[in-house]
Amino acid sequence: METIIGHGEVVKSLTSSLAAGKVGHAYLWLGPAGVGKKTLAKAFAKQLLCEAGGKARDCRCSSCCRFESGNHPDFIIVEPEGNTLKIDQIRQVQHQAYLSPVMGKRKIYFFPEAEKLTDVASNSFLKLLEEAPPGIVFMFVAVRADSILPTIRSRCQVYHLFPVPVSEIEERLLALGYSPAEARKRSVASQGLPGLALKEVTEGDSGSHQWRIADLIRLDLISLFKVSEELEKKERKDILLILRQWETELRGDLIRLETPDSVTRTTGALERVAELLVMCEYNVNVRLMLDDFFTTLKRLYTS
Ligand SMILES: [Zn+2]
Repeated sequence: METIIGHGEVVKSLTSSLAAGKVGHAYLWLGPAGVGKKTLAKAFAKQLLCEAGGKARDCRCSSCCRFESGNHPDFIIVEPEGNTLKIDQIRQVQHQAYLSPVMGKRKIYFFPEAEKLTDVASNSFLKLLEEAPPGIVFMFVAVRADSILPTIRSRCQVYHLFPVPVSEIEERLLALGYSPAEARKRSVASQGLPGLALKEVTEGDSGSHQWRIADLIRLDLISLFKVSEELEKKERKDILLILRQWETELRGDLIRLETPDSVTRTTGALERVAELLVMCEYNVNVRLMLDDFFTTLKRLYTS
């Protein structure tokens, strides 16, 4: 977990619980998109599964190698089918949880979008959470605490992740070989979310320009709805990044605009984007949210 950016206290607590052999059977990580919840959960999972006890930094045991290649048989990712995690998926987990791990002593079920558990699905595996078979660990990740049923929450060790100081992100970017100016620019733009800072580091700015507001407003509604469909497939932190780019673009427009009409229009769009940024923190249907936004955008820019 040395590669985690920020969250020092949480990393320390998890590492010492592992060293003391006091591993829980259910964990819940909460925090904004891009803050590093999934990265942290996966790093911890890798250590829990490690055949050497997760102590070595670059362990090459067969478990760590399988984990790195993304096909560890005892790290089971339970992702939503469509917009929800359905009861059938949970039944499958319930059934399989009683089978022994394939490689070692532990088996981990990872729910990267736990807010998509329906109430029925959540309730159906409360018993399993309470009386988990030996070696089974559940890991849940969600943006907001209130999107997880209290009955689930209360059975988990809960960790809240907060935005990381910009200086810590900057330090890491410097260590990755970025020039001081570049590291500064990227860390500030990330607003404390390592996921966004690293996203830009690994993928640069390429690709983001295809979603500029200036281009989108030239499309008709049908094409815009196709854009929603396309964007819906992206991870929440990527959508957040796009929303922030729209915000920056519109703010830039606002400085250049002169006619009262165009100012009203841009302000209207900017207000909507600000609302979407808040909505994105909740378990909203991204497609509906964007369809609605594009409809407003079209109305603002054609009237
Ligand atoms: Zn290992």
